[in-house]
Amino acid sequence: MSKIIKVKARQVFDSRGNPTIEAEVFTKNNSASAICPSGASTGTYEAFEKRDIKNEKYLGKSVLSAINLVNTKISKKLRGFSVHNQERVDAIMINLDGTRQKTKLGANTILAVSMAIKKLSAKIKKIPLYKTFLIKNNFRLPYPLMNIINGGAHANNGLRIQEFMIRPDRAKSFSDAMRICFLVISNLRKIIKSRGLSTSVGDEGGFAPMINNNNQALDLIVLAIKKSGFVNGKDVSICLDVAANELYKRNKYSIHSKNYITVEKSINEYKRIIKRYKIKSIEDPFAENDWIAWNKLMKSIKKIQIVGDDLYVTNLERLKKGFLNLSSNAILVKLNQIGTVSETLDVIKFAQETGFKTIISHRSGDSEDTFIADLAVGTNSNQIKTGSLARSERVAKYNQLLRIEEELGKKARMNKIH
Ligand code: PEP
Ligand code: MG
Repeated sequence: MSKIIKVKARQVFDSRGNPTIEAEVFTKNNSASAICPSGASTGTYEAFEKRDIKNEKYLGKSVLSAINLVNTKISKKLRGFSVHNQERVDAIMINLDGTRQKTKLGANTILAVSMAIKKLSAKIKKIPLYKTFLIKNNFRLPYPLMNIINGGAHANNGLRIQEFMIRPDRAKSFSDAMRICFLVISNLRKIIKSRGLSTSVGDEGGFAPMINNNNQALDLIVLAIKKSGFVNGKDVSICLDVAANELYKRNKYSIHSKNYITVEKSINEYKRIIKRYKIKSIEDPFAENDWIAWNKLMKSIKKIQIVGDDLYVTNLERLKKGFLNLSSNAILVKLNQIGTVSETLDVIKFAQETGFKTIISHRSGDSEDTFIADLAVGTNSNQIKTGSLARSERVAKYNQLLRIEEELGKKARMNKIH
């Protein structure tokens, strides 16, 4: 009853309007489907995203050859295997690809199938998806990292830092966390409007006003937190994703202004804004190959969450290097950076065993698929990063977490932030 009889894929569209893959896996009496997301500020070491670069019909962005691979090769190979043996089916697809970065089949091709199999397994077992990962009881809800001002590659306003986020550190429940974020965002909208700036939003649902100075964005957020009746740095903390790969040239960085400065000077600037704005978390403060800079930052600032995204790309080998190098104390986890559910879980397991905080993340091009909400709870990950309270593909994940919290009832607990 749980044997795969067919896998089928179709081309659908993501939140940026780009083509992406939806895979549907069938057993005799059941089926489940999943949609692969897509990033904009991608790391060099991410697994390969397969697109029809020579097909002009979709400006080189269609995924029709990937879909053909699912419908033929992958479907044939997986036929007869149980949907309950995730590691086996993932290993079959990894071997069928046979390359380091999944360049033959594409990580997007493999991941859509891998997630659909996980969902189908839960469906057949008649248990919620979040109960099928690493944690079997004592589930904890993640703190949301809401990206409320968008810059960098996710907007066209000229802001150097990509994501200005808030985290409701004193929220007592997930619904309380949502209420706190709602209040801050509502006040931020009013403040932005009162300054005569646009309240339209960027790719991840955060406001994208035409300001091009990091301090200006941070000042707006501090004011919104205060206006909402909260204390910055206590009730609500400001967190950043610098996405420094995009701001790196010949050993220098243009994080804090258009001028490129050394690592040492960049660290001093980080120290200044951490103190002034009570920032609690910084993602990708330096570029993906600049291991020395990461280590310098870790040694020179204390009690701040330093998150590796493009640095680790959800890759166990890179995470192990980061562990030995003391590069960060947290990891951002994105399924499509590595390409299967099993490999993602291996990374989370290693990270948690070695004391890293795990943050499950969306991509800037995402969809109505809420898989990552269940993954966050099912791995007791401390935080989830899935955009602002705007754009349905972002809000869908938060709504799924609210449903999970309701289902857990009295057993629902928030994770530990510190
Ligand atoms: C990120 O950099 O953390 C992010 C979510 O953006 P993207 O999906 O564009 O990599
Ligand atoms: Mg990032």
